[in-house]
Amino acid sequence: MNLNLPSRACPVCGGARALPRWEKGELRLVTCRDCGMVFANPAPAGMASGAFYDAAGNDYYLSPAKLESDYAAVRFQRELRLFREFCPRGAVLDVGCSSGAFLFQLNKRWPGDYRIRGTDVSGPPLDYAESRGVPVTRGDFLNLDFALPIGVPASGPARGCASAAVAGPEAGAPFDAVTFWAVLEHLDQPALFLAKAAEVLKPDGLCFVLVPNLRSLAFHLLGLRYRYVYPQHLNYFTAQTLAGLCAPHFQIVALRYSHFNPVIIWQDWRRGGREVPNAERAQLLKSTTALKQKPWLAPAKWCYALAEKTLGAMGLADNLVFVLRRK
Ligand SMILES: [Zn+2]
Repeated sequence: MNLNLPSRACPVCGGARALPRWEKGELRLVTCRDCGMVFANPAPAGMASGAFYDAAGNDYYLSPAKLESDYAAVRFQRELRLFREFCPRGAVLDVGCSSGAFLFQLNKRWPGDYRIRGTDVSGPPLDYAESRGVPVTRGDFLNLDFALPIGVPASGPARGCASAAVAGPEAGAPFDAVTFWAVLEHLDQPALFLAKAAEVLKPDGLCFVLVPNLRSLAFHLLGLRYRYVYPQHLNYFTAQTLAGLCAPHFQIVALRYSHFNPVIIWQDWRRGGREVPNAERAQLLKSTTALKQKPWLAPAKWCYALAEKTLGAMGLADNLVFVLRRK
């Protein structure tokens, strides 16, 4: 272990008392004695600063297989459905938007209903997002200034999912919704990102958070063999610890469990915890996405949907999703 790396306090409660939990390669996971949060301590080099995502990560995030899958109509369908249910229109900021696929699909499905903007620390995926017509703001979200209303049409702002009382362009809080799709698990200090999200949201604005579920069937079956226990993931949330993280700025409007990938469970079981190369991750995403689009697989898809729904109801699906309202 690199002893020069700074020790992390608990990202949820700030506590300094933690017990060793798991070790996998260079990754050291601990459990907070105060709130039960499981997190990497210390944070592997390059992950906490985000430097990784501006360099080594690009071969994955910009690989043709990953881009093709991300831009497939089926890729974000669960997120889009949930988002639409709670936010039928308005100004939307996707934090950690990568190549911009979620916003692209949002705009494509419901043209004119949303004013979209993405942000990320990684430059090349944002170049791609822009090439697909997704407007972006570059840089570290914590240091960005969104004080000016963004994309407000000349006729005045469309009324969004935030408070109906908000009628005019207002300084400092231009967004009706902020989304973090599979982002908070990567961050050294996720609490700062939620505080910033609250700052840029209109009164009653919504925040959508999706993270891997530490209580998922996959985690239960695979433990350290699960591919998502790896250096890029610094935080391992349960519904309880995620609620604790969100509590200072948000109230929970909805809690859902989503996604289930039996192929990953099978592959990781056989692989026994060895690292999955990025090219293989991208390839699996591509084949899974292709399978979802095959009409002759309809009966299998029905069984799969039932399994996902059952696991979701039991809190055992792969991801944990919160819909939050600004306090
Ligand atoms: Zn804690």
